[in-house]
Amino acid sequence: MKITAIETLVCHARMRNWVFVKVVTDQPGLFGWGEATLEWHTRGVVGTIEDLSSLLIGEDPTCVEHLWQMMWRQHFWHGSGVTRSTAIAGIDLALWDIVGKIHGVPCHKLWGGPVRDTIRLYCHLGGGNLENFYETPVDNAKQFADLAQQAVGEGFSAFKSMAVPPTMAVEGLKPVKAADACVAAMREAVGEEVDIMVDCHARPSPAMGMQFAKALDQYGLYFFEEPCWPENIESLAAINAAVTTPIATGERLTHLAAFRDLFAARGCEICQLDLTHCGGFTEARRIAALADAHRIALAPHNPQGPVSTAASLEFGFSQPNYIICESVHNDVPWRDDIVEEGYTIDKSTRTVTRNTQPGLGITINEDEVRKHPFEQEVPQRVFYQDGSVGDW
Ligand SMILES: [Mg+2]
Repeated sequence: MKITAIETLVCHARMRNWVFVKVVTDQPGLFGWGEATLEWHTRGVVGTIEDLSSLLIGEDPTCVEHLWQMMWRQHFWHGSGVTRSTAIAGIDLALWDIVGKIHGVPCHKLWGGPVRDTIRLYCHLGGGNLENFYETPVDNAKQFADLAQQAVGEGFSAFKSMAVPPTMAVEGLKPVKAADACVAAMREAVGEEVDIMVDCHARPSPAMGMQFAKALDQYGLYFFEEPCWPENIESLAAINAAVTTPIATGERLTHLAAFRDLFAARGCEICQLDLTHCGGFTEARRIAALADAHRIALAPHNPQGPVSTAASLEFGFSQPNYIICESVHNDVPWRDDIVEEGYTIDKSTRTVTRNTQPGLGITINEDEVRKHPFEQEVPQRVFYQDGSVGDW
């Protein structure tokens, strides 16, 4: 069996272009789907997949680890840069989809699963709608509370908010009080049985991240995400040690060695590896094993498209330390038109029953995808009040 082509199919979904990867074999009808979505780097990823395909055409698609090593180590540069690691991930997911199809089993069964019956989903405020999630102002605590109630009304028992505003390296009480008010309003609105998450998007400096973490600790957040830059491992560890709230991070780390350093410093309690950025299932399974050795939980980063979600779920049904699946359902209204999934969601509880179809269980409607060709992503740029550059 040989790989004959590696194709990319780009689907413009407002703030992201979903990059679907199709690995085609010489067996009639046998191909695999992956996803390599990397917002604002779409052309770079598509080009990188083309570069990598020169290593793989003519190779046996079932030798996944061997092909992963080729993609990571050959061409001289290791695959740790995010564009390359995303391209590798998209191909790797598609290879595992092929292996599942060959054996007639869902991917999680290839890795000793299933390890659980259901997986809980959490949503973004507004279901991942760009304006609701990213642009609700932190001086509008009521809107946070209203969107929180809406999420619970849609069946979710957990949701994530962006209640921490961009701040300069040091600011006074105002942004901390604003974040506090938003989280207080959400907790008041949904009660104690619903899990609330706050994503800082690595906007704060370590000093501000510590202030936000301590101020919000009283609300019993399910997790507090990226309280400072991922480069500041010691500061992540200091914040994690200073509060009761579990710290989550990892969506911008691309490979095992980076997670080794994060875990060794105890920089988090929850590892948010992204299956579409950290080299696919092949590398993610190594990261998951290492996390397990530290008793660190897994909650993969997944704001992307439907193949990424299917991958996160297949992973979750095979990994004991997986706790919850990030999901968006309201980023574009036609999301359900382009894909059929092998898993089922109980919309009254937003829990997933596992996929029964081979591989990732995904069918992509390529004609529907072609209705949404590449467009430049909507820019999301932050400048502080003095005009200097901030983190989005
Ligand atoms: Mg995040």
